[in-house]
Amino acid sequence: MTEEMLVTALVDSKKNTEIKCPYCGVTRRVNLGKYKDLKPEITTKCKCGKRFSIQFDYRSEGRVYFECLGQFMVLRPQQSALMGMSVFDLSKHGIGMEVEDAPPISPGDRLRVIFTLDLGPKPEEIDTEVLVKQVSGNYLGCEFVNFILDYEILEANPFF
Ligand SMILES: [Zn+2]
Repeated sequence: MTEEMLVTALVDSKKNTEIKCPYCGVTRRVNLGKYKDLKPEITTKCKCGKRFSIQFDYRSEGRVYFECLGQFMVLRPQQSALMGMSVFDLSKHGIGMEVEDAPPISPGDRLRVIFTLDLGPKPEEIDTEVLVKQVSGNYLGCEFVNFILDYEILEANPFF
């Protein structure tokens, strides 16, 4: 029996989620409001014929998808150089991002993150410090240290 691929789908406060097939990359946006008693993990079949499992993540209220490229730096006594990263999701209090070829990063580490938020009327350069809360492979879940993201902008832009 082959093991099914498991993807995580973040669910926002309006129960919108985006499911990406790990095989063909097709993305489907779904509102889960109409499904009653939905299990936290389900198996689905994509149009490409492949089956995979989806784990719904309801943890962060108001978390939204926001993909862009940015840079980060690990804040340590021997400061490292700026490295590339991809922002995946944002919330009022934090950021989810993926890093590649990064030095080992653990929960509790502090990072400087730089990216451009272009959801509002004007692009906004974000350059702020975050605290790493969660490390899962190349994915880092981080909390802003001294910064709160404009929530209205996030609310107005549930998907991209
Ligand atoms: Zn597919």
